[in-house]
Amino acid sequence: MSDKLPNLIDPLLFAERRSILEGTLKVAVFERLSDLVLVTDTDVRIKVQFAKEGKRAVVFGTIETMLELECQSCLQALSWPVDLSFKLGVVSSLQEADQLEIDCEPLLFDGEKVSLTALIEDELLLALPDYPKHGYDCIGQRSSKDADFDDQNQSETNNPFSVLAKLKKTGE
Ligand SMILES: [Zn+2]
Repeated sequence: MSDKLPNLIDPLLFAERRSILEGTLKVAVFERLSDLVLVTDTDVRIKVQFAKEGKRAVVFGTIETMLELECQSCLQALSWPVDLSFKLGVVSSLQEADQLEIDCEPLLFDGEKVSLTALIEDELLLALPDYPKHGYDCIGQRSSKDADFDDQNQSETNNPFSVLAKLKKTGE
């Protein structure tokens, strides 16, 4: 086990060794993800284990972080907790990928080393909502606040009328 996460890995070799990698990366190291979040100085906690299931090398792990997304309704920050687990089966061809069990995504490995960072980033991107949005009526809340503000402004500028209205009331 190591605190440092290597970037390029040989999944077959790691599976033979039953390696476990654990560590923390900043959101900033994930270029594609960084474009989609408001804050990149966030820790991403990662644990990846390599094993063999029969002859198949498998990679499974967990990723935990809190991403700051932009709500697509009100354009304000939206905290999006991520706590996901994944399982990948190492395959050398697409035909082989078709034979994987249903709970296993394929990790295509052609002998060149695999980028662990890219692998983690793919999993994170899959976990993001297509349309991040607050779980409550954030637009409604904002526009009702704006309306209150307008009311206040109006009662100040239209003071003579409100005085008149008061006079009318007391006159009755
Ligand atoms: Zn919102």
